[in-house]
Amino acid sequence: MKQFQTESKRLLELMINSIYTHKEIFLRELISNASDALDKLAFLSLTNPEVGLDRSDLRIRIAYDADARTLTIIDNGIGMTAEELEENLGVIAKSGTLAFREKLAQAETTDDSDDGATDVIGQFGVGFYSAFMVAERVTVKTKAFGADSAYEWSSSGADGYEIAPCGKLGTGTEITLFLKPDSDDESYSEYLEPFRLRALIKKYSDYIRFPIEMEFEHTHSEDGGESHTHVETEVVNSIVPIWQRPKSQVSDEDCYRFYKDKFYDSEDPAAVIRVSAEGLVSFKAMLFVPASAPYNYYTREYQPGLQLYSSGVMVMDKCADLLPECFRFVRGVVDTQDLSLNISRETLQHDRQLRVIAQNLEKRVKSELKRLMDEDFDRYLKVWNAFGLQLKYGVLGEFGSKKDLLSDLLMFRSTREKSLIGLQKYVDAMPDGQKFIYYAFGENAERLPQAEPVLDAGFDVLCLTEDTDDFVMQMLTSFAEKELRSVNSDDLGLPDSDDRKAETEKLETEFKELLDFALDSLDGSVAAVKISGKLRSAPVCLTTQGYVTLEMERYFKSLPQAERNTGSMTAERVLELNAEHPEFLALKSAFDSDREKAAVYVKLLHFQALLIAGAELGDPASYADLVGSLIA
Ligand code: ADP
Repeated sequence: MKQFQTESKRLLELMINSIYTHKEIFLRELISNASDALDKLAFLSLTNPEVGLDRSDLRIRIAYDADARTLTIIDNGIGMTAEELEENLGVIAKSGTLAFREKLAQAETTDDSDDGATDVIGQFGVGFYSAFMVAERVTVKTKAFGADSAYEWSSSGADGYEIAPCGKLGTGTEITLFLKPDSDDESYSEYLEPFRLRALIKKYSDYIRFPIEMEFEHTHSEDGGESHTHVETEVVNSIVPIWQRPKSQVSDEDCYRFYKDKFYDSEDPAAVIRVSAEGLVSFKAMLFVPASAPYNYYTREYQPGLQLYSSGVMVMDKCADLLPECFRFVRGVVDTQDLSLNISRETLQHDRQLRVIAQNLEKRVKSELKRLMDEDFDRYLKVWNAFGLQLKYGVLGEFGSKKDLLSDLLMFRSTREKSLIGLQKYVDAMPDGQKFIYYAFGENAERLPQAEPVLDAGFDVLCLTEDTDDFVMQMLTSFAEKELRSVNSDDLGLPDSDDRKAETEKLETEFKELLDFALDSLDGSVAAVKISGKLRSAPVCLTTQGYVTLEMERYFKSLPQAERNTGSMTAERVLELNAEHPEFLALKSAFDSDREKAAVYVKLLHFQALLIAGAELGDPASYADLVGSLIA
């Protein structure tokens, strides 16, 4: 007897003792493994004609024996060698096992067993072991394609497993479950009832593209009263894949169910995109935009890509080249007859036909997202909450080459609407005389002193709330021929901007001595102190000059040490003063009479500006001392 690897053993124990309410999914898992094995053999024969296989012979059979309490899943797929048996069923080399255990424990305590409940087993693809939720013993008889001998793997659970030669005849795999005895709370005998089995196959595995056969007993009574029983083999699933069926015959509900089963989501997708293209390359595709991000979406573990079929044979599970990076959250299948398939999976990646398909799909995904935004905003909002960050990264990635594709999908909080809006909506609502699209940093632009003149002029201001937003704006530079402009800018292009500018220049000359003094007092904390042309009711604000903004600086500081390059990524701060404000007047009179006091005022004004900008004070203790001295 061989021991399981530690991780496998734990997982197995978890399955054996599971009180998980969706135990029935074990059947789907085993059927889907069988289907994969058939796919692998079909692929082999497609790429090596000498395999000499007739695809129509490939099938899955489900057999049951009520007396022996066994359920058997049989396929004539690729099979496994003794080494593969060992590797595949003795070891779980998957990352994410820990996360899986946590999720399962969570599902077991919270699961209310309705159909919308999370399918934890499916999400993590720990398929084969799920057999131990219903079986006390499992045997796997298998013969690999092209091999001379067959092997049997058997295990009664966590103690270990055995592998021995066996007398199986044909290529393929036969998995037998010896079902657990029924208990007060659980009936395992239901998995021996043909009608129950058929219902489960229909529910979870209808989309499998190979026939799933079962035998049914039929009893006829003849006129004379005598009854005959005969056995008929039936194909239980519908075989023709859903994406090949005409749109008119497939409801949204059908698509949703297919999506949830195939991509292990518990939620309906936010959108289904069906493509049937003829031309340079003909293909059919069924794509889905998930309504939430998978638990590992923003990690390295997440593998993007679409499932690629050629003439009904699955050739690649996650073909990343079919999707641009910015839409990596899209799931789905693509089926084409036009791939040159006498090439290996590696070279397939560079196939020209794939690029044509990818370009087409990119357009479709984009237009569907835009349609959602315009026509079904609540849904779009869900997508945005799940993948908005991805779309922003998309603008920044690939040297900005996707920015035109993505710019009208972006949303920012509008100060006027108090909700998220797209850039097009902003532009559509711009009154005559507004030159720029304005944005400010922070959740509430209305609280930001330098946004005041823009808002007073009756112009909306978009709020940037994420560290990436600033980079996104810099990358976009404009939208619909309207330049994007930070409210920190010295040129806000407001109706009274020119007058203000002349006025400010006059004041700067008038107070030059005071401004120089202030700059000195701040001892290098800021690059400049100046009279502001944009302040109305507030005494001060903090802006920056040059390319790096405070937000960029914050972003770079937040990066791990190794990637930090703060030297060149420090913002040049500018302290702007409102010459009409009483606080400035107080500073001015202190400057004329008591330079020490004036220096304290300058520091306080600087601290105030930092506070309003949401920037770090640097030296909070000295701020407290200064305020304290004023109170005293
Ligand atoms: P997964 O299917 O997610 O890889 P499983 O635990 O369900 O994980 O299966 C482990 C591996 O065992 C599979 O990847 C496959 O290589 C092999 N396997 C399982 N069932 C079969 C089968 N019916 N025929 C051939 N190989 C199989």
